[in-house]
Amino acid sequence: NNFKDYNLSEELLKAIEGLHFTQPTPVQQAVIPRALEGEDLLVKSQTGSGKTAAFAIPLCEKLCWEENKPQVLVLTPTRELALQVKEDFFNIGRFKRVKTVGLYGKAPFHIQQKELKQKTHVVVGTPGRVLDHLERGTFIAEEIRYVVIDEADEMFKMGFLDQLESIMKALPNNRQTLLFSATLAPNVQSISEKYMNHPVDISI
Ligand code: AMP
Repeated sequence: NNFKDYNLSEELLKAIEGLHFTQPTPVQQAVIPRALEGEDLLVKSQTGSGKTAAFAIPLCEKLCWEENKPQVLVLTPTRELALQVKEDFFNIGRFKRVKTVGLYGKAPFHIQQKELKQKTHVVVGTPGRVLDHLERGTFIAEEIRYVVIDEADEMFKMGFLDQLESIMKALPNNRQTLLFSATLAPNVQSISEKYMNHPVDISI
């Protein structure tokens, strides 16, 4: 198993090499080819498994650099995780010059608003602040084609269910959705039934 098996662009392969990822982890082996094919995925996996790169690699590959409006939305339960995911997109998308904006609380709204006016491919954020930007019209989601719900079980534990549903309802229907969770609790199953399209189950 090798990253070269996935037909990734030179920009991506060079970035992966620079990160010293010599071989895809099991979750990456399961997720990358299916995500590249456009399938919805319901992935049971732990932190430390390489799950962030499992979605960042195929989504950086698929996004269109020329498009100026955000195409990828990643929702995380915490600001810390949002920052981590943002950094991973920066590293993996470095040579493709992928632009990522982070939307989370305890940071000035107006600075995020200004960042969203620049070319943005990926938005990473926590549900409350993402919804705030959607409602105020500062985050235009009409070109969102890829959505990741990261650590879904944590999202529910923190009480983000209603906000998550409001966001999902505001997104274009014609999209690919990837959900990652350490456990497939009933509310995780229920979200996947409501907002995903025949998801493939992956358990690592
Ligand atoms: P995550 O599960 O996304 O939090 O990733 C855990 C750690 O594994 C991070 O520090 C990644 O940089 C690292 N990592 C991800 N994929 C690989 C890989 N294929 N080979 C080596 N390290 C990796």
